[in-house]
Amino acid sequence: MPQHNHAPIRICPNCSGFASVAIATGVRLRDGSRDTVPVNCQTCHGIGTIARPLAVAAKAV
Ligand SMILES: [Zn+2]
Repeated sequence: MPQHNHAPIRICPNCSGFASVAIATGVRLRDGSRDTVPVNCQTCHGIGTIARPLAVAAKAV
């Protein structure tokens, strides 16, 4: 019987790995493109993964 030995889950539970996003401000720049603001996840600080004990603690809350 095969044993599944998965790597410990380290993906941030707060952002599911999408740690850094660009949010449009609604303002258009001179070249017509949208002005964006980069925002990082506050839990993992833009990394997307966190230490295993932190992930377990975050899930319990
Ligand atoms: Zn995160």
